[in-house]
Parts: sequence; structure tokens; C-alpha cells
Amino acid sequence: MATIYYDKDADASALSGQKIAVLGFGSQGHAHALNLKDSGFDVVVGLRDGSSSAAKAREGGLTVKPIGEAVAEADVVMVLLPDTSQARVYGEEIAPNLEPGNMLMFAHGFNIHFRTIDPPGDVDVTMIAPKGPGHLVRRTYEQGIGTPALVAVHRDATGKALQRALAYAGAIGCARAGVIETSFEEETETDLFGEQSILCGGTSALVRSAFDTLVEAGYQPEIAYFECLHELKLIVDLMYEGGLSWMRYSVSDTAEYGDYTRGPRVVNDATREEMRRILDEIRGGAFAKEWIGEAEAGFPNFLRMRQEARSSRLEEVGRGLRRMMPWLESERKVPPT
Ligand code: NAD
Ligand code: MG
Repeated sequence: MATIYYDKDADASALSGQKIAVLGFGSQGHAHALNLKDSGFDVVVGLRDGSSSAAKAREGGLTVKPIGEAVAEADVVMVLLPDTSQARVYGEEIAPNLEPGNMLMFAHGFNIHFRTIDPPGDVDVTMIAPKGPGHLVRRTYEQGIGTPALVAVHRDATGKALQRALAYAGAIGCARAGVIETSFEEETETDLFGEQSILCGGTSALVRSAFDTLVEAGYQPEIAYFECLHELKLIVDLMYEGGLSWMRYSVSDTAEYGDYTRGPRVVNDATREEMRRILDEIRGGAFAKEWIGEAEAGFPNFLRMRQEARSSRLEEVGRGLRRMMPWLESERKVPPT
């Protein structure tokens, strides 16, 4: 059984009197910084010069400083910058300002696991990785509940790394929901595999293939969109509430029979074989090498694929349909161009 920690295991005194620098004010950064402040911790937000987030952070009542200064005055440094920027910022602004006994924290193990960041032996290196996007980490905290998280200790220099990390998890609300113990290796490999094979990659490829199949067979694109994308949420909500059995109990017998007999034809032995290859590329470092190379080249393939995907038939149909459902449209759901 996995070890799961809760509020009773997250003793805030492990961080008492310690200043926390949260680097970045994006999805995770804004949630961590505001939750820490509301939990009574001394927080400073570290941002690069000219960051457009600085005004928002100040509006939220937070102190903002350049990254190097924030690190220099903090005891705990949480790195919430894009994974592809962390190694450079670490080398230039974090490493020169770290002191023995500090704790360096991450919300994803990528850079430690793939060794693009190699912290000195006298600092604690830990991870608190919320299992949800930042706006949920903030919203659930305000509601008095929390988002589950993972905790991992890469290096315990002070002998108190786990207690300090758990105190942090308590302060951002995650220990209310449960904090599962893992390693940087396990978190990094399972996180990448999950987003590639199912959460983002697998699911969006299934949606696109099913939509295209119906449209190519002459059905109305609007009907295909509702069937293959829109309704997916209702099904996933049922899975989330009670697993596959509850979803199958709630749909018709006809749908359940189709699930058992047709599902394994769509996702078959060849798919599993490909999933194993994807996992091998992650574990062997080939994916990390490819993605770091893409970042170093200025994201040419990534930006081209993003543009192509946004102008697909599926997305155009969706934009039209959502205009009929204005309550679904918020500023946030329209990607910046
Ligand atoms: P984000 O892109 O939303 O925010 C990144 C922040 O860093 C922004 O405030 C931006 O101002 C700043 N920034 C961007 N480029 C920079 C640069 N070159 N130099 C300095 N600052 C820069 O990132 P995020 O999604 O919050 O991810 C942060 C970390 O949290 C990552 O390690 C990610 O893997 C992890 N994580 C994210 C989620 C999520 O749902 N978004 C969930 C769990 C873990
Ligand atoms: Mg993830």
C-alpha cells in the first residue's frame, strides 16, 4: 500500500520562521503563493524583470522581487517556472543564491530526474506535486478542501526534508486531501506517460479519430462533435465518481455491451505495444532529450503543431457550437493567439 500523509502528519512548525520563495506566478505559482500567504507563511514571489505577472501578484497582496533576490532571502525555494526554463534559471539565478540548509522544491521531477539540475549536497531537495491544475489548487483551498498531491524527497541534507515538505503541502491545502509518497523517478515517468498515452495524447487522438470517422462517413459535424467530444465529460465525470463500474451502471445496457465488445478493438494489442514503446522512450531519456532539444531550438515543431491543431475542423466546429452555449465560454477557454 502507498503511504499517504494527511493534515495530522503535516506539522507547520517544521517551517516556522522560514521564508518561502515561490518562483513563477503562472498556473501553479499563483496558487501556491496565495495559499501559503493565507496560511500565514512569509512568502516572496520571484519573477524575472518585466514579468507581466508582477502586477497580479502585488494585487494579491504578495511581495515581488527579482528571482535571485527572492532566493537569497528565502529558506525554502519552490521552482514553478516552465520545465524547459528551469535549468537555465537555476544556473544563472538560483544556484548562486542557495545556502546550506535551504530546501529546493519542485512540483514535477523532470529536471532533477533527467539531471539538468544538480543541486549541491547541503540543501534538501523535495517535491510537492499537486495532482491538479493551479486554479483548482487555489479554488479547493478557498473552499476549505484541497487537491491531492505527491511528495518525494530526492535529498535529505538536514534530516528534516520530509517534515518540511509535508508542512509545505499542509500550507497549500494538499494535506487535507492526502499526499502520496513517491520518488522523483516514479513521479516523472508516470506523469509523462499519463499525459502522453491517455490524459492528453491518447484522449485527444481518440476524439479526433472518432470525429473524423463520422464526418468522413457523411454525418453532420455538429452531431459528431457532440457525440465524440462534448459527451466525453459526462462519461469521465461518472468514472471519476465511481470508477468504470459506476459509469457502466449509469449508461444503457446497449452502451455497456458495445463498451465490452468494441472498446478492445479500438484500443488493442498494437496500442498496448505502442504504449510500452512510449514508456521506454520516457524511461530511457529519449523523450526528455527530444523535448529539451525542441526548447533549445525555439520550439519550431511544437509551435507548428499547435497552430495546425487549433485550425482543425474539429476545433472550428467546437468554436461554433460553444457560441450556442455562452456559459461554457470564458476568457480562459479561448487560447491566446
Ligand atoms: P506556467 O507556464 O503556468 O507558469 C510559469 C511561470 O514562470 C509564469 O509565471 C511565467 O511568468 C514564468 N516564466 C515563464 N518563462 C520564464 C522564464 N524563461 N524565466 C523566468 N520565468 C519564466 O507553469 P505551470 O504550469 O504552473 O508549471 C510550473 C511547474 O509546475 C512545472 O514544473 C510543471 O510541471 C508543474 N506542474 C504543473 C501543473 C499544472 O497543472 N499546470 C500541475 C502539476 C505540476
Ligand atoms: Mg501532470
